[in-house]
Amino acid sequence: MWSEKMVIRREGNPKNHIVMPGMASAHSHAFQRALRGRTQRHETRSGNFWSWRDQMFRLVSQLTPDDVFNLARFAFCELAMSGVTAVGEFHYVHHDVGGRPYANRLEMSEAVIHAAQEAGIRLTLIRAAYFRAGYQQELHEGQKRFCDANVDEVLRDVEALQAVARRQNTEDRIAIAAHSIRACQREQVNVLSAYARRNRLLFHMHVSEQRREDDECLAEYGLRPAQVLAEDGVLDERFVAVHGTHLLPDEIAAMGRANASVCICRTTERDLGDGYPNAAAMRQAGIRLCVGADSHAGSDSFEEVRAIELDDRSRAEKRIVAAEADALLAIATTNGYAAIGMADVAGQDEIHLRADDASLAAIPTDLLTDAVMFGATPRAVDGVKVGGKTIVEGGRHVRYDEALRGYEASLKRMGWL
Ligand SMILES: [Zn+2]
Repeated sequence: MWSEKMVIRREGNPKNHIVMPGMASAHSHAFQRALRGRTQRHETRSGNFWSWRDQMFRLVSQLTPDDVFNLARFAFCELAMSGVTAVGEFHYVHHDVGGRPYANRLEMSEAVIHAAQEAGIRLTLIRAAYFRAGYQQELHEGQKRFCDANVDEVLRDVEALQAVARRQNTEDRIAIAAHSIRACQREQVNVLSAYARRNRLLFHMHVSEQRREDDECLAEYGLRPAQVLAEDGVLDERFVAVHGTHLLPDEIAAMGRANASVCICRTTERDLGDGYPNAAAMRQAGIRLCVGADSHAGSDSFEEVRAIELDDRSRAEKRIVAAEADALLAIATTNGYAAIGMADVAGQDEIHLRADDASLAAIPTDLLTDAVMFGATPRAVDGVKVGGKTIVEGGRHVRYDEALRGYEASLKRMGWL
């Protein structure tokens, strides 16, 4: 729905501010913020996605609920300073070391919810289900903290989380996820998906991020991940495929027909060497794109969205292939809010950019959207308001110092600093 709020415009007298709608990061694993700058050398043995994942499992094995709160609060504050006002946290670290549930099963989820409240950012907690390492694979010690015994346990937690959100009377939302076809068998995906549809919840899932994921799925079912989902009727307008890097043309067409969303996370996908999604084909097929900070390998929401077009140029070896600036703005705002169940509040949050920032200076008004979507950096973000409440002022999160102290304390406790 078009609204005056969903455009980029000049404001102020003299017109020294550029105002734009708040952006959504629809796929985040906030605790992974702690890995930034720590997995970039050969000696860290993070040479591909799978060995990077071992590093992530090592981090997970050390996390307490306090750490999850501290890492997430800092990650959310950093996102806010790059213009993000709503986050979809794809949350999968649920249990204590060894996989023992906490006395309060929601302890970890509540830590994430608390972190978002402290950062003043809108949150959809996407409660992810995870049951196994993969087809014919043993669980890594770190993975035990993700796992539930059965689908019923997951659904009970989803219902309990909805009750928490109602009790706290916040605007936080709950969605549901199957982590991936690796971590959930197809029957489990089907039960989760049917529940989401019955209860009008968004349903997220990592799909075809890695070729090995596709190969393992072929070995188990004789079908690729998106083919399983299409055959089982999982794809619909509530379905959000995360990544979709290796989707084939007919899989893209099936997702488009279903009016599904794909959340592309280029800064993470680049960092992990995942490959190039065909964003142009996705948009042509009618897929609604959105973006996510995912592993927080970087935290530049302008780069996150423009990379959809710029990386597609590298793939296609030509210019202007997937999306012009107006479409990128919709991907970062309207589509992202819708993908985390917040379509009703898109337009209530705004970002103020400094018109005299070096990345935006001296641009004619008719090229403003192009200049912002293709040229702005987080440095240009002066103020951020969520539902009228200021969370970033003068380019700095209003609780930045406190968030940084907590972040450093957790890194020190874990021996990472
Ligand atoms: Zn992810």
